[in-house]
Amino acid sequence: MNSDRKYKFSWELLGDIATGRPNLGNKTRLEVYRLLLFTFRDVLEQHLGTEKTDQIFYEAGNLSGREFYANMLRPTSDLGEFVRELQQVLKDMGIGILRLEQADVETGEFVLTVSEDLDCSGLPELDHEVCVYDEGFIAALLESFTGMKFKVKEIDCWCTGDRTCRFSAKAENSGSRK
Ligand SMILES: [Zn+2]
Repeated sequence: MNSDRKYKFSWELLGDIATGRPNLGNKTRLEVYRLLLFTFRDVLEQHLGTEKTDQIFYEAGNLSGREFYANMLRPTSDLGEFVRELQQVLKDMGIGILRLEQADVETGEFVLTVSEDLDCSGLPELDHEVCVYDEGFIAALLESFTGMKFKVKEIDCWCTGDRTCRFSAKAENSGSRK
């Protein structure tokens, strides 16, 4: 399947923005990002159903997180340093304000919050969390850092009435390091 792929992701696809947009630069309105996100989700759901759509968003977030880790973060084995750098980059890029609320390295259980989240902060209240892409993204960051497989679930969201998004992350089997 891989050899005849048309849309395989590479970081280069983000382009040379300085050359390509000498006047507009790397800025756009956040509504444009959300327009893309939520129209994609609408159409995917119509074609594939809710569960499959969520799975696709989780996997896309996961791919994004892997690429983001490889291209935007300096390698480190220190958890504190990793979190500090991640916080800084997420803030500088306007993605969100990250906090690590709980961390148990032994059991591989973490609770993280993202405030002013790119995907959902300010959305109308819904009866469900919406940040599935973020779940995959955060899982990939933790996976890249620890070498373990993670499952991430959003437990509070702007859309469920909370003012921050809160994610529970659990290593799938903390015994098997890559
Ligand atoms: Zn959320």
